Amino acid sequence: MDATEERVVTACSFCRQPSNEVARLVAGPGVCICIECVELSSQIISAPPSLPPELASWEEDLDPDGVLASLPRMAAAGAQVKRNLAHFVKRARRLSAT
Ligand SMILES: [Zn+2]
Repeated sequence: MDATEERVVTACSFCRQPSNEVARLVAGPGVCICIECVELSSQIISAPPSLPPELASWEEDLDPDGVLASLPRMAAAGAQVKRNLAHFVKRARRLSAT
């Protein structure tokens, strides 16, 4: 990593826990998920569906304060994806990929 390259901070894209505070973190293309969120997702997937697939149950249950409280985490997850994208573009350029 060169001096001008921005350090990529890794955190779970779902709960925003940093990698050094979770037991395991799985990285995907620009996003990450911690083992706790994997387990929660597994429980949700295992339960019988009660809502149309495009609606997450936790979103449906939020009151206006909960919606507002979610905005910073969503913004942080979006910022992480943008940082990771910029990191990969720099990496592609460094590798002379076009
Ligand atoms: Zn998580």
